[in-house]
Amino acid sequence: MQRFQCPACASEIWFHNTNCLHCGTGLIWKSERAAFVRRDASTPPCANRSVIHCNWQAAPGETLCSACRHTTVVPDLSVPGNDVKWARIETDKRALLALLSDLGLPLVDADGAPSPRFEFRADPADPSRPRVLTGHANGVITLNIAEADDAERERIRTQMGEPYRSLPGHLRHEVAHHFWQVLVQSDPARLETIRAVFGDDRADYAASLQNHYKNGPPQNWTASYVSAYASAHPWEDFAESWAHVLHLLDGLETASAYSLLGPSGLPGDVANLVGVPMRRLSGPWIHLSIALNAVNAAMGHASFYPFVLSPDVLGKLDTIRALIASARGEAAEGAH
Ligand SMILES: [Zn+2]
Ligand SMILES: [Zn+2]
Ligand SMILES: [Zn+2]
Repeated sequence: MQRFQCPACASEIWFHNTNCLHCGTGLIWKSERAAFVRRDASTPPCANRSVIHCNWQAAPGETLCSACRHTTVVPDLSVPGNDVKWARIETDKRALLALLSDLGLPLVDADGAPSPRFEFRADPADPSRPRVLTGHANGVITLNIAEADDAERERIRTQMGEPYRSLPGHLRHEVAHHFWQVLVQSDPARLETIRAVFGDDRADYAASLQNHYKNGPPQNWTASYVSAYASAHPWEDFAESWAHVLHLLDGLETASAYSLLGPSGLPGDVANLVGVPMRRLSGPWIHLSIALNAVNAAMGHASFYPFVLSPDVLGKLDTIRALIASARGEAAEGAH
């Protein structure tokens, strides 16, 4: 994420702010310009501004903004607390869409409709009814809104033995499955490249997951996979690796914006960072991670980045990085 200044007083503002904390000016994010402007009569706010503090401008001819239009199912707002969880998820979703937009990835389908779509659902009160499973199917990302509850998410993280579980992590992982369908599935050359690196995705998915949950990851999985879950199936390896590429790119852009990278020689924005080979990104990223892990430890927080990037894993991340960079070129061609 870049840094932003209040258009009225130039104080620092943050991506989720609806008002400047210094001078109180109402803020509107214009997504097509990727910039904040003052709220005035010429900038109609998203209809969700009063509901979930969405700070984007309404899309042309629409009541909702270009981010909120991606959401097709929202939780029952008559249930206490659901509004807070939904608002939290949408805040991270807006950041995700801004990141994907900066990377030049397509955010509409062939008909020009918002894609992927998001369904944010709560578990039914009746415990005998099926739970909401977070996942992706055919361009629809479903997220159980319990993940927006810190205590609940931490409980699941501990139960699953994961070093890291977060809303941005979920969103980045699930959107990877969507982009596998959009960018890889129908492109024979890309499919061959991805299968050569991540394995044959035609392996039985349900059986692979069942095996993973029963037997755990293979011994020495850290040599080949960024997470234990990545070893479950080639699709999950792709999604976990994709999520980590977004972690690296967004993390490096943010660190650069706060002058934390030193003389790395790296560009300061994700649009250009994605064009840099992983062997040049990984050094500054690992250096930053070691430093921030230590700072977090000093504060008693969980590690900033509790992962090991082996040479094989870095190769996988570079394959994803190159895929995203190549898709950017396509999006630009499509605009002509
Ligand atoms: Zn201000
Ligand atoms: Zn909105
Ligand atoms: Zn997945």
